[in-house]
Amino acid sequence: MKRINSKYIDTGTTWLSDHCLLVNERGLIERICTSAEADALHRQIEFEEELNFPQALILPGCVNTHSHAFQVLLRPTTGQPRHFQDWVDRFLYPLVLAQDEDTLYASALLVFSQMLKQGITTVGEFFYLNNLPDGSSSRQRNVQAVLQAARDLGLRISLVRALYDQGEKEGQKRFKEPWQQAIEQTRQLALQYQKHARVSVLPAPHSLHGASPDLIQAAAALAEELDTPWHIHLAEQQSDLQLAQERYGTTPVGALDQLGVLDERTVLVHAIWLNEADKDRVAAKHASIAYNPLTNMALGDGIADIAGWVRRRVTVGLGTDANIQTDLFAEARTVEYLQRTQNLAMGCIPAARSLYRMLHLNGGKVLGLPVGELQPGMAADFLAVNLEHPSLLPAAYAEEVETAVLNQLIFSAWPAEAIQAVFVGGETVVEAGRLTLVREENVAEEIRRILG
Ligand SMILES: [Zn+2]
Repeated sequence: MKRINSKYIDTGTTWLSDHCLLVNERGLIERICTSAEADALHRQIEFEEELNFPQALILPGCVNTHSHAFQVLLRPTTGQPRHFQDWVDRFLYPLVLAQDEDTLYASALLVFSQMLKQGITTVGEFFYLNNLPDGSSSRQRNVQAVLQAARDLGLRISLVRALYDQGEKEGQKRFKEPWQQAIEQTRQLALQYQKHARVSVLPAPHSLHGASPDLIQAAAALAEELDTPWHIHLAEQQSDLQLAQERYGTTPVGALDQLGVLDERTVLVHAIWLNEADKDRVAAKHASIAYNPLTNMALGDGIADIAGWVRRRVTVGLGTDANIQTDLFAEARTVEYLQRTQNLAMGCIPAARSLYRMLHLNGGKVLGLPVGELQPGMAADFLAVNLEHPSLLPAAYAEEVETAVLNQLIFSAWPAEAIQAVFVGGETVVEAGRLTLVREENVAEEIRRILG
């Protein structure tokens, strides 16, 4: 058992002072107790390790619900596309065609290491490069390269395995499979990692344009079989409304409902262009949202009605999607600032705790994992933030310290250096800003190797 002492602990729902975390050998939270209780326990059992964070707040690790790791390689071109389709055709698809196992590993190592350093302990990696350049199956080798990067770093990964069976463009050869093959490979991958402590798999028909009705229905059935959520890109661009109208004669949400698949396992990625009746329908079916505000801004997608989702008590998790940045606190900040800009108001979503829970607790639900909250039996995934770091002052000295700290964490930008340590499954994966399981220099070396 490990004992971790910190000035403050926030469990995700409750602020505690003078408490400590006890972490067991399985990497789970055993107990959260007062220092006096831990001292008493210490007389009976030997703690294998004791760590002290006297100036810190410990909070649950951030859960990134939507990422495409390889798109980090597009960072240098962010200023160039003229519109979404131009980005897809002139930047995304050429990049897609150039990927192999080596580049997938290197880009994942780069972006996942940055996520960890910024306090993300779980990534939902929406992975769709299932084929070789000639369109034949990579036989899971591409996906294993990405999983390997996460495993090397100690990052928890939920592999959101994309299923894609429609499209005639050259780039789409890298994703397109017969739908039965897509389902079977996803099932095999899920079974392979069924007992793995840090890897899980869930199905994701790519979108209404990439997945046929048969595939969407089979993916929803597979999610039920595996007892996981399932994800789908939905209503990201206004043009998605026209596509749903042409293919299904209804709205994007209407299409899912028509297929009989919209339920509490469904996670809608983006969900920007929805009418009020469809928002009510999503809420009534208890589906959830994976929202990526910074990417949506960068790609000119639009602004989702997050205030409306919160009002309807729909679970909203956050994602870094194209990975132009890998900071979930920045995503949370952007959620509220976009609502303010659109609604010409302030306080659209309360920072403490509605926005705050989007960082971790809601993400755990969106990925169907026991993460995102510090409770006995949950994964010991957390970070220690130094509240004495100048970028986080003066919140630690406010009278209402809980509200002040949660507000400042979300609304004022602060650097990764303020994070003293990051833990996944009770293991230290970042310490004083440096990776502990991978040599720091390896990350840049891998990029040099594939591009240099
Ligand atoms: Zn996406």
